[in-house]
Amino acid sequence: MAGVSTYDLTGKRVFVAGHRGMVGSAVVRRLASENCIVLTADRRELDLTREEPTLKWLEANRPEVVVHAAAKVGGIAANNNLPVDFLCDNLALELSVIRASHMVGVQRLLFLGSSCIYPKHAKQPIAESELLTGPLEPTNEWYAIAKIAGLKMCQAFRRQYGDDFISVMPTNLYGRGDNYHPDHSHVPAALIRRFHEAKLAKAPSVAVWGTGTPLREFLNVEDFADACVFLLKNYSSDLPINVGSGDELSIADFAAAVADVVGYEGKLIFDASKPDGTPRKLLDSSRVRELGWAPKTPLSVGLAVAYADFLEMGGRNMRVGVQA
Ligand code: GDP
Repeated sequence: MAGVSTYDLTGKRVFVAGHRGMVGSAVVRRLASENCIVLTADRRELDLTREEPTLKWLEANRPEVVVHAAAKVGGIAANNNLPVDFLCDNLALELSVIRASHMVGVQRLLFLGSSCIYPKHAKQPIAESELLTGPLEPTNEWYAIAKIAGLKMCQAFRRQYGDDFISVMPTNLYGRGDNYHPDHSHVPAALIRRFHEAKLAKAPSVAVWGTGTPLREFLNVEDFADACVFLLKNYSSDLPINVGSGDELSIADFAAAVADVVGYEGKLIFDASKPDGTPRKLLDSSRVRELGWAPKTPLSVGLAVAYADFLEMGGRNMRVGVQA
């Protein structure tokens, strides 16, 4: 199939930009079992939104591979409330990291997109070819437009200079290292935290945003990190590539699964005054499957790991910042 390409990571210097975020930290964990040298930069040491210091850092550290997992991320409310941060911070990160990677001659770069780059009413399951075929979901268009620009940058550098830069589109992710901010998190972290607090408070009921009817696909972040490493080693194309689990469920069913793992036995109340977002978001991941990659973690197992991680952190991870 198109895009098959073998790249050997052995002995390579791999820079993971955004190594403290949920995806970046999972990629670092996964790379530990590859025979490569993992490079990271602390936020206090390097502001990745600024191109000049980023270029200097890359010149000094000479990575052959870059995983661009640094992004300003957040759930439906954060996207709505912080449009400048979501648009401008992400554009700044992309310009800086992608252009500087080109300038230092990085051999392979993996850019992390998002399933929200696809149109609100894209044909389901969503194939990569749906990109730019219709209007975006308004609650996350700031982020989506920045991510579309990032993938276009990768295509542009490939077309103009032959750079081997690829873009990977994950479905909704959950797992270790998530952000538990009460308003700005994604649904898995939001519900883990809220249900946990409701359990401790012995609350008879707890709110779930929206109608409960939207359909979402969830992928464990360890599986996604595995897919990133797989694609670094096996994929090269200007076409973005989707990575999903194929496991689709309604928000109501997902909330029930979270309540089960957390051990919350009260009632779930759906708050329809909160936005539902896009009605359905299931990726067509047949291309990555054809290349030979498949996810391994059942939702209940992954959610149990995520809950254990939340308990271990004592609910401290509540940032709204850039994952760098
Ligand atoms: P999305 O997939 O980009 O819409 O991202 P989210 O993870 O923020 O939301 C997914 C779905 O979960 C939406 O339909 C939300 O309305 C719903 N949802 C239910 N409860 C919550 C919550 O407490 N926080 C968030 N972020 N979403 C929630």
